[in-house]
Amino acid sequence: MKKQIAILGSTGSIGTQALQVIGEHPDQYEAYVLTAGNRVEELIRQARQFMPEAVVIANEAKYPRLKEALADLPIKVYAGEEALCQIVQEAPIDMVLTAMVGYAGLRPTMNALRARKAIALANKETLVVAGELINELARVNGTPILPVDSEHSAVFQCLTGEVGNPIEKVILTASGGPFRTFTREQLETVTKEQALRHPNWSMGAKITIDSATMMNKGFEVIEAKWLFGVRPDQIEVVVHPQSVIHSMVQFEDGAVKAQLGMPDMRLPIQYAFSYPDRLHASFPRLDFATCTSLTFEQPDTRRFRNLALAYEALHQGGNMPCIVNAANEVCVAAFLADRVSFLGMSDAIEQAMQRVSFVARPSYEDYVETDRMARRVTEEILTKHT
Ligand code: NAD
Ligand code: MG
Repeated sequence: MKKQIAILGSTGSIGTQALQVIGEHPDQYEAYVLTAGNRVEELIRQARQFMPEAVVIANEAKYPRLKEALADLPIKVYAGEEALCQIVQEAPIDMVLTAMVGYAGLRPTMNALRARKAIALANKETLVVAGELINELARVNGTPILPVDSEHSAVFQCLTGEVGNPIEKVILTASGGPFRTFTREQLETVTKEQALRHPNWSMGAKITIDSATMMNKGFEVIEAKWLFGVRPDQIEVVVHPQSVIHSMVQFEDGAVKAQLGMPDMRLPIQYAFSYPDRLHASFPRLDFATCTSLTFEQPDTRRFRNLALAYEALHQGGNMPCIVNAANEVCVAAFLADRVSFLGMSDAIEQAMQRVSFVARPSYEDYVETDRMARRVTEEILTKHT
């Protein structure tokens, strides 16, 4: 039986690499559902190649084009946010890869868990916003959440075979992004074009900006808490510019295990699909003849304040990470539209954290309301400053 996989966000960076993995192992995996936000032509091309049961386009205005282009094929065609949330529950689906961006991933992930689908989790924002609620749903439904984020996949790989051995520390590596060596003064004037040029990874625009501000690493700290059940003081970030060590785990005897490899997301995607097995992969191997030095630095939270804000949100708990996520989504969109400066993003996020009401034990409805309020407040803050 081939594993039936639903890909939320199949036209993105993770989505297209997941389809490459499926394409390399047609005997193991089948794309059961493909979904996209806007890029209808790419979705049509993918549907014709992979022949899924169904496709969903979130933007309803693109439905007529999608329907018409696939009319000669037995593929079901849907549109809209609601359809996206429903489709993940279809009986034949074994696993849902959440590869869409941002808060929009929360509801489909909740629905997939309720329908007892295994989750291959790329959309880290889901765990940042509502980690407690997602973990509870996974527990109640007995459903695994397999990490796709390279750092968390590395930790997960280090933990294989360590059942019953407590984690002393999780050590997340960070490339430091394109501005690792920039002074605060230099950061004042950096542009989106510079920020979009990540030194080691090719990714979607939102996570690339998050990597430049190090909010991505802050989110990964929060993600690690929920995936591995560790306390904030057990999660350390170390800057490792070569991106060869993908992350590490330190155990109670002081042993540190690391997972190394090329910076290629197809490996963690494939491992989430194949766990606990490893399948052959044709992509490039690490070559120690050229990879001759691995270096480490401490992260600087005075230059990269978003990392400190994410730790602060993690300590406060409740809906604070949800506030930070929403404020950050608004700031990143504004930065990409030249409406806020690089350093202005941290200022706006910090103000939003102070202005949106704190809820210590949020329900799902509280998260929805928090997300809405935080977006509105952040927009106000940005408008006042421009
Ligand atoms: P991307 O922008 O390249 O692709 C996003 C995909 O989601 C596209 O298919 C898009 O059509 C779809 N989408 C976007 N907004 C949507 C919405 N509101 N409703 C429905 N569909 C929507 O992004 P990406 O780089 O592939 O990242 C996807 C997720 O994976 C993010 O949460 C990111 O943090 C995480 N992630 C990515 C990488 C990476 O290497 N790209 C690594 C680790 C984690
Ligand atoms: Mg990562």
